[in-house]
Amino acid sequence: MARVGDAMLTVTRVVHASALLDFGGARILTDPWLPETRFYRPGEPRAFVTAADPPELSVVISHGHYGHCDLDALVRYPDKSVPFAVVPGLADTVRAAGFPNVVELAPWWSTHLGPVEVTAAPASHGVLEVIFVLRADGHTVFFGAEALLV
Ligand SMILES: [Zn+2]
Repeated sequence: MARVGDAMLTVTRVVHASALLDFGGARILTDPWLPETRFYRPGEPRAFVTAADPPELSVVISHGHYGHCDLDALVRYPDKSVPFAVVPGLADTVRAAGFPNVVELAPWWSTHLGPVEVTAAPASHGVLEVIFVLRADGHTVFFGAEALLV
């Protein structure tokens, strides 16, 4: 956990590219990956144990690789109105997982997840991917996901 400035922004590493960003109570989970299978373990402690545990949140997903888009784990999350901002082409998959509140962001498109402005930026990764710049309350977070910079 890292605190920045007057503690209005808290960044908690979950695992891999997954982090919980807390902009003064507006929480955003990046690239969820919560593996609990016998053969696929994160290899490090997680900030929370299961997908049912995180507090009220929003979700951003950079691309559809399993290690960044673990919708099987998020299906257990009880609040299906959780807003998602995702790479283009992933919205139908998120909706099929039971989360209807999803917007796709092409590079340089923006949306708001609560008070947080989320802007997608171009990335290169062998599959379609976007990275994100998240801003609220004078704080800016760059989330580079798993991208090569272009
Ligand atoms: Zn990937």
